[in-house]
Formats: sequence, C-alpha cells, structure tokens
Amino acid sequence: MSAIKEPSFRESVDLMFNRAVALMDLPPGLEEKIRVCNATYTVRFGVRLRGQIQTFTGYRSVHSEHMEPVKGGIRFAMGVNQDEVEALAALMTYKCALVEAPFGGSKGGLRIDPREYDEHELELITRRFAYELAKRDLIHPSQNVPAPDMGTGEREMAWIADQYARMNTTDINARACVTGKPLNAGGISGRVEATGRGVQYALQEFFRHPEDVAKTGLTGTLDGKRVIVQGLGNVGYHAAKFLSDEDGASIVGIIERDGALFNPAGLDVDAVYQWLVKHGGVTGYPDATHLPEGAVLLEEECDILIPAALEGVINLGNAKRIQAPLIIEAANGPITAGADDILRQKGTVIIPDMYANAGGVTVSYFEWVKNLSHIRFGRMQRRQEEARHQLVVDELEKLSKAAAIPYTLSPEFKLKYLRGAGELELVRSGLDDTMRIAYQSMREVWHTRADVEDLRTAAYLVSINKVAASYRAKGL
Ligand code: NAD
Repeated sequence: MSAIKEPSFRESVDLMFNRAVALMDLPPGLEEKIRVCNATYTVRFGVRLRGQIQTFTGYRSVHSEHMEPVKGGIRFAMGVNQDEVEALAALMTYKCALVEAPFGGSKGGLRIDPREYDEHELELITRRFAYELAKRDLIHPSQNVPAPDMGTGEREMAWIADQYARMNTTDINARACVTGKPLNAGGISGRVEATGRGVQYALQEFFRHPEDVAKTGLTGTLDGKRVIVQGLGNVGYHAAKFLSDEDGASIVGIIERDGALFNPAGLDVDAVYQWLVKHGGVTGYPDATHLPEGAVLLEEECDILIPAALEGVINLGNAKRIQAPLIIEAANGPITAGADDILRQKGTVIIPDMYANAGGVTVSYFEWVKNLSHIRFGRMQRRQEEARHQLVVDELEKLSKAAAIPYTLSPEFKLKYLRGAGELELVRSGLDDTMRIAYQSMREVWHTRADVEDLRTAAYLVSINKVAASYRAKGL
C-alpha cells in the first residue's frame, strides 16, 4: 500500500479535468459550471421479497444539461455510491461531447448484487427503481435516457421501457426512454456488441497512425499483438473476441473476479466465456494457468492491456509495475489520477475511457433516433441500393461480352457488391466513422500542442471546448 492517499473516483475525474482546463482559456465561472455535477437524486425504496420488505438504495446523477436529454447507464453493483455515479455522470458529459452524441451526461446506480436474486425478484426491483426515477422525469425520452452498464443488460432495459410505457400510456415516443433494449422491444442491431466493437475500432484507428504506434515502442498492426483483458463481461468479451477473431491479436490473459487465466499461446475467448457462464467463474478452465490473485496479471508483460471491468484497478499500489506499453480503458475510470501521472512519466500510452468505451453511447444514440423515427435503419434504401448495383453489374457483364478480352466478375465480388446495407452494417459503419473522427480530433490536439502530452488531456480539451461552446450558445 502506498502512503499517499488515493483520490476518490470523482476526485480523480476532477483532477484530470483540472489538468486539462489549466491549458485552456475558459472564464473561471464557466469552468466551474462545467465541472460541477448539477444534481444527484438518491432514492430508498422497499420491495416485498421472500416474505419481507427489503430496502434498496439507488441514485441518478445529472452532471450537465447543456444538451438534453441527458444520457448514461444504470449500474447494478454493491460498490455503487454517490461519488461513483457522479464521477460516471461527468465522464458521460465529456464522452458524449467527444463523439458528438447530442446528449448531456448522467448516470445511475442501484446498490445490489444482482447474483443474489432470481429473475422474478430482479424484475420487481428494477421496475420499482424505474418507477421511482420515471415519476421524477429521471427516465424520459426527452429528459433522461438510461442504458445498460455493469450488472445490467437488455433484460433490465426491456423492463425499464415497459415500466415507463405503463406510466405514460399515450406517449408515442415511450420506447426512446431507454436504450440497450432487445431488438424485439425497440432495440437496434449491434447495440449489445457496441462498446466492445468500439474498443476494436479505436485500436484499429490507433494502429493506422504509425507515429502514434511508435510512441508505444510497438510496430506493425494488431496482428499478433499480445493482449490481457480484465473483465469478460459485455465490454471485455466483445472486445477480446473481435480483436482475436478479426484482427489476429492473441488474448494471452483474462482476469475475472475469481482469478486470472494465462496462456502465452493465446486463449480461446469463446471457450473461456462459455466456461464463465456455465461455472460462474474462470477457475478450473482447462487450457490455461490459473492465478488465484487475478489482479497480478495486470502487471504481466504484454503489448496491450484492456481493463474492462471496473474503476480504480490501476492505482498508486501497482502503477509502477505495469509493463504494457499501451493501455486502452474499456472500463470507466480504471486508472486513478495518481496512477495516470506515474504511467505518463513512464511513457505508457493510454487511450482514455471517455473515447475508448464511447461505442456504447454512440449506438445508443442510433437506437434513440430509431425509436423517435419509428423505422428501422436501411428499410427504405436497401432494395433500391441493391437494384442500382444490379444495374452496374448487368452493364459490366454486357460490356464484357463485347470486350476484346472477355472478363468475368467473380461470384464473391458480386455477392458483396450486390448486397444492400441492412441495419447492422449501417450501425457498424456509423460507429466506425464516429470512432475514427473522434480519435482524429484528439490526436490533432495531441500532435499540435506542445503542452499536451497525452491523449487523455487531448480528449478533455476537445470535449470541454464543445461543452463550453454549447453553454456560450445558450447564453450562459
Ligand atoms: P458486465 O457486468 O457485463 O461485466 C463486468 C465483468 O467484470 C464481469 O464479467 C465481472 O465478473 C467482471 N469483474 C467484476 N469485478 C471484477 C474484478 N474485481 N476483477 C476482474 N473482473 C471483475 O459490465 P460491462 O457492461 O461489461 O461494463 C464493464 C465496464 O465498462 C464498466 O466500467 C462500465 O461502466 C463500462 N462501460 C460499459 C458500457 C456498456 O455498454 N455495457 C458502455 C461504456 C462503458
């Protein structure tokens, strides 16, 4: 344990914010307005379970309303507290600004261990929590739109959407009150994978810039890079799976609650995931070494470290021993402000959370737009696009017959070219575009300003500037 006191999660976010605004020329009043959390609502409610009333504590924090609705996930975990939701709400403000999702920042949480309750009990608890928030407009299509986070997923979002609809029976836009819903309840293709997919797109974009890669001491592409992932949940599983299946990266380590798995030859991500789902942990998985103290694997030599579980895991206690030259923060706040200082001095390149895990809110934005427009993306254009492509193929084939040297279009080309884009392709394309543009906006600041040493500060500069511009335009 270090003798220096570690700041809380919210203090960490504020310290990082302060480091960035020190390089900006904002009027002091505006700086303070952007930093502070506007409001946090705490609710305690009772649910009758197993013959007695159990009381639960939940929060919904609204950090900034420079754009509305405000947006941010709902987390179910025992560690949930006011400091944490406020930190996460602030990160949502900066994240939405960075990726140009037109929302303010919010976050919610319920102090509960969801594994202690069966499905019916969880439904009762979730619906009651949703009721408490919805009746105060803390769930509302135009005011405050939650999404999944740690411990919640499609199932909980469907209950929340239904609860809101029951309370607002004539609201035609009721489905837009929450995102991350299942497809059959107003969700969008590609939302479940979105945050992990965004981590993949972020790394792909990073590796498109050899000068940036050079700062890590690495070379080449993602192919063959050794990766350690912490947390094989929604975000960690999808990121690890896509990086190994599609980019040729080797997932050499996976850290979970009950220890870590290590295999220098690479782990089969799907096989580990199936094991985890079946056994509730990674212990006993056959094709790897199991380390009971999982967190030590954060310190193992690898090319890319992906903390994708929870905040504060890289801290003053272990930062000096972290060997990975590149860390991508798939979780929110996995590196404390103190650890960030140590890693920066060591030259570790950190792709910051507000950018790295923005895939979730980006696709949530698409889902919200889909709900408000009441039509699936691609429904109007797809067949028309296919018909126009068919015209080109027919013409080329006709010309080939008259050509001096006849040619043929390969069946693979025709299959790919003729297929019009459906919702999933459009969502992935929109996400890829968002992740590329946001990275380029950060790197421009990183490369052009001598006083900006790292991507996190660059990300804060870009997003704070956008939030400030919104406030100025509003006349504040
Ligand atoms: P999740 O509940 O699906 O998965 C979390 C995983 O981490 C689980 O497998 C859990 O067993 C594991 N875990 C928990 N404590 C651990 C520990 N001490 N050591 C190792 N593993 C541990 O959650 P998620 O939705 O994947 O969220 C993970 C992180 O990503 C959070 O920080 C969340 O705020 C962030 N995030 C999630 C989304 C999203 O769309 N779900 C979007 C943006 C950011």
